[in-house]
Amino acid sequence: MTLIDLTPRAALTDRLATLPVVIIGAGPIGLAAAANLVERGIEFTVLEAGDAVASSVRRWGHTRLFSPWRHLIDPASRRLLAAADWHPPLDEGRAPTGHELVDEYLTPLAGLAAITPHIAFGTRVVAVSREGMDRTRTAGRAEAPFLLRIETAGGRRDDITARAVIDASGTYTSPNPLTSSGLDPLGVADLDGLIVQALPDVRGADRARFAGRHTTVVGAGHSAANTLIALTELAEAVPGTRVSWLIRNAAAARVSSSADDELADRARLGSRVDQLVAAGSIERIDSFEISDVRRRDGRAQLIGRRRGEPAAHDTDLVVNATGFRPDLEMLREVRLGVDEIVEAPVRLAPLIDPNLHSCGTVAPHGFDELRHPEPGLFVVGMKSYGRAPTFLLATGYEQVRSVVAWLDGDMSAATRVQLTLPATGVCSVDPVGTGACCS
Ligand SMILES: Cc1cc2nc3c(=O)[nH]c(=O)nc-3n(C[C@H](O)[C@H](O)[C@H](O)COP(=O)(O)OP(=O)(O)OC[C@H]3O[C@@H](n4cnc5c(N)ncnc54)[C@H](O)[C@@H]3O)c2cc1C
Repeated sequence: MTLIDLTPRAALTDRLATLPVVIIGAGPIGLAAAANLVERGIEFTVLEAGDAVASSVRRWGHTRLFSPWRHLIDPASRRLLAAADWHPPLDEGRAPTGHELVDEYLTPLAGLAAITPHIAFGTRVVAVSREGMDRTRTAGRAEAPFLLRIETAGGRRDDITARAVIDASGTYTSPNPLTSSGLDPLGVADLDGLIVQALPDVRGADRARFAGRHTTVVGAGHSAANTLIALTELAEAVPGTRVSWLIRNAAAARVSSSADDELADRARLGSRVDQLVAAGSIERIDSFEISDVRRRDGRAQLIGRRRGEPAAHDTDLVVNATGFRPDLEMLREVRLGVDEIVEAPVRLAPLIDPNLHSCGTVAPHGFDELRHPEPGLFVVGMKSYGRAPTFLLATGYEQVRSVVAWLDGDMSAATRVQLTLPATGVCSVDPVGTGACCS
């Protein structure tokens, strides 16, 4: 990978110096980037596709996070909020729901006088390029402003320019497909209405949809665990409600039930699911690799192989909790250095590759691990982890602190990366036989 010289603040051309840093996405990490830019007095604009702050978190807002408040508040944001008379939640040892995270922290943060005028809601970024430069042109590239094509709610398109781009657009809106091949199953269109995306509100808005029906949750992570637990509660209340859990491996290694997991709420999720399987409330189908789907008599049929033999599973509804992947299409015209396995920046990928690390712990990393061959472009937050499922907000807050320090030309702060994450106790892969893959 050829890295062009990057462009810290001191080296900005006159033209670039007049332009804002553009942040894509007003989720927790996009807003933390904004807070860091405020503290450093750098002009910025946040472009948010949704019509309110943290639109993706709102979609799973009924779900309780597993991290306590003390790991969920960005330090720069906390300083700005404190100066505006905001009070943190009384018990920072408690884990909030997504809605509480939005209402008690992200909405007040976005409402600060230093941030709110700089957010454009209902503004989706559809493409990123550089002014007058497709990805093949090299000469003068670092001095050319970024060009972002945006689409507003009415479908109107426009182009805006930026000195640097921080892509914090997350991955929630691009789920993985159900199949083991990673391709959409043949026949998926026939299942319209029978496949539900991860984290439906089973106890609330979506209750009627699942009551009295047989639902199969596909996936081995904490989103699957959350939905399984909610469905078994519904099954106790509504006769005829059935719950199956389909995973492609022999065990759901990513659902922690370890006593060593310092994120106790997450460990509780795993042990609760284990108990429900043991009690027969959840039918667990392991080692099932889905290749196709089909509609049969108004129901869904998942078709594939189980332990080498052809297999089929019939159900009323399927919840796809197979995880998420980054949407890189909008970055097609800029130069990305993306790892071929994880789709994360090449220096970050080995630190988080799920083949090697199943933990949420990660070595401290900042602008250096996050940079791409495109000078001034950073992908941060959940999206920076590509397909790795272990991202934690505390990691993203340190990412954007380092990136913004770098944009400010403060190399000392940018390189001094510190990260203290809770131990997870969910290290399932031990490729070198050390007994632990992560510390
Ligand atoms: C159910 C669940 C529980 C979790 N629990 C925890 C936890 O306990 N602790 C923890 O540390 N982490 C947790 N995570 C992981 C992670 O911290 C969250 O997913 C977090 O929301 C990621 O923040 P983000 O800002 O990177 O992305 P997001 O929250 O996904 O925000 C991205 C924003 O970008 C916007 N956007 C997307 N595309 C565009 C576009 N093209 N143009 C403009 N805007 C766009 C979206 O509307 C959204 O507002 C959890 C995740 C899930 C799904």
